[in-house]
Amino acid sequence: MTIYVAWIGEGPEPPRLLDPAIAALQREFQMAARRAWIDERSPNAFDVRRQQHSSRVILEWLAGRMPADGAKLLGVTGMDLFIPVLTFVFGEAQLAGRVAVVSTARLREPPADALVRARLAKESVHEVGHTFGLVHCASSACVMARSPALAAVDLKQDRLCPDCRSRFRDLREQSYVAARPPYPDCR
Ligand SMILES: [Zn+2]
Ligand SMILES: [Zn+2]
Repeated sequence: MTIYVAWIGEGPEPPRLLDPAIAALQREFQMAARRAWIDERSPNAFDVRRQQHSSRVILEWLAGRMPADGAKLLGVTGMDLFIPVLTFVFGEAQLAGRVAVVSTARLREPPADALVRARLAKESVHEVGHTFGLVHCASSACVMARSPALAAVDLKQDRLCPDCRSRFRDLREQSYVAARPPYPDCR
């Protein structure tokens, strides 16, 4: 099983943008992580009134594009994302689901590429962490800390704290148990 990461931005992908995110995902979740190539773009995600893209619509669209051996699919975009109750989001994920999306639009202040790549790696691990069932963490250094603003992103590391790491191990075991058929095969 593999964590896939795909560029779903409007223009061409910035060079080497996804490499640190893929490396961090592989390291933190102890699972293969690699590129997926999605040529189309999510229709109906742009909200004319807000001039932003709906992360909800993108998540639903991504869910239909999971590669056959994919465990998780993370879409990375330069488009600015929103959910109805917030002015913007860095990303969104299906909690204990399979897909997540992150945006670099609000990570570019200042627009230094190395900084953007580092922030993207953190938000990628954060959102994919949600797909594994991890919730927000009280430790400000933990990658699962809530990040309403850039200062909080810069404060945290791209790693799970010991508590979240042990919770991740538990959740993974539970999901293997839950993945078994509920009843024996009878005929
Ligand atoms: Zn979160
Ligand atoms: Zn934590």
